Order: sequence, then C-alpha cells, then structure tokens
Amino acid sequence: MLGEAILKGMAVTAKNFFGSYVSEERLPTIQYPEERQKLPEATRQFPFLVYDGEDPMKGLRCVACQICEKECPPKCIYIVKSKDKRVDYKGQPQFYPATFDIDISVCMSCGICAEVCPFESIKMDTEFELANTNRFGGLLVNKHQLAKSNEHYRKIHPKDAAESDAVIAAEKAKAEAKAKADAEAKAKAAAAAKAAAAAAPAKTAPADAAK
Ligand code: SF4
Ligand code: SF4
Repeated sequence: MLGEAILKGMAVTAKNFFGSYVSEERLPTIQYPEERQKLPEATRQFPFLVYDGEDPMKGLRCVACQICEKECPPKCIYIVKSKDKRVDYKGQPQFYPATFDIDISVCMSCGICAEVCPFESIKMDTEFELANTNRFGGLLVNKHQLAKSNEHYRKIHPKDAAESDAVIAAEKAKAEAKAKADAEAKAKAAAAAKAAAAAAPAKTAPADAAK
C-alpha cells in the first residue's frame, strides 16, 4: 500500500534525523580541531617505519630488502641499502636502510608497502595533519621522520600490532631454539673429537713399544 510505504520511509528518515543528535558515532559535525573524531582501527594515511627499543635508528626493523620500493605503484619510496650489517632481534646480521625516503605528495595510501613487507617493518599511520607550505621538500620524509615506535603502532592499530608481535616472538623463539640446537651439536662434536683424540695414543702405543 502506497501510504504505508511513505510512512515507513518517513519513520526511517525521522529515526536517522533524531539519531544524528544523540548517537555519538553518527554525529555528522564536530568542532574540529578542538574536537577529534575517534578513528577506526582500519584507518590508513601514510606509511611509517616501526622501531623497537629506545633508539629509533638502531631499533628499525627494516632490513632494506627493497621489496616495498619495487612494489609501490607510484614509485614514491627511495631506499639505499647500508654497506655494513648490524645484528637484528633474531641475532642475525642484517643490512639496514642508509636512506629511506617516501614522497608523501605522491603516495596514494594504498598500503601495499605494508602488505608486502616480510619483516613487519612498515605500517600505515593514521596521522593526516601533514599540510606543509613547502610542496616539494616538505612532503619528502626521511627515515628519521618515518621512524615511530612499536608502542605507537600498538596504540593506533592494537589488533594488527598484536599479530605482528606474535609473529616476531615466534620467529625469535625459533631462532633461539635453532641457536641452542646448533650450540649443543657443536659441543657434542667437540666432545666426540676430544674422546677420539684421547683414544688414539692408546692404539699406537704397542707399535711404539716394539721399536
Ligand atoms: S602506501 Fe602505497 S603509494 Fe604509499 S608508499 Fe606505500 S605502496 Fe607506495
Ligand atoms: S620496509 Fe620492509 S619491505 Fe621495505 S625495505 Fe624495509 S624490510 Fe624491506
């Protein structure tokens, strides 16, 4: 019936109209910048580099593998691999980025760099207030500006950060177990070699005595 459909439509409209005054997540207008909207966890703006520990440069997880640089659709990542290596969280020597720049005037916030990184090193930030009067240099951000702590990552994307932490903890445990097994095997081999060396003179002693 036509009248019933109109009444149903008006009821939906009225519900949305009055709901927008009382339901916080549906309020269409806020007094920005004094008021801030709570951003959903899936919000993504531009990438940042995650570091662990206290020192942003020493703690960068990035090993300069350059996968993100190759996969970035508009090619706005620029990486120079270090000449030397440093020990990572697994105790393995790894390269690090001597240079890591992103031109965020070109970045399209697709998140592909974060998806392809095998080292949980690059993630998408929620920061959007990046307006700058210098269109070129001001939007070319280097590794010092890109480095943000794992605590920051946990704060903006708690679910994803927990998954990253679990992956890293599992890899670390695996590396430690392997190092322990290798050390035990080495110690066993050394003990066997020592026992063999100790037994060797006993075999040759009778021949020496006959001379
Ligand atoms: S978000 Fe997309 S465009 Fe931006 S740096 Fe990453 S891969 Fe490139
Ligand atoms: S951010 Fe990840 S993918 Fe990009 S160079 Fe570093 S380790 Fe490789």
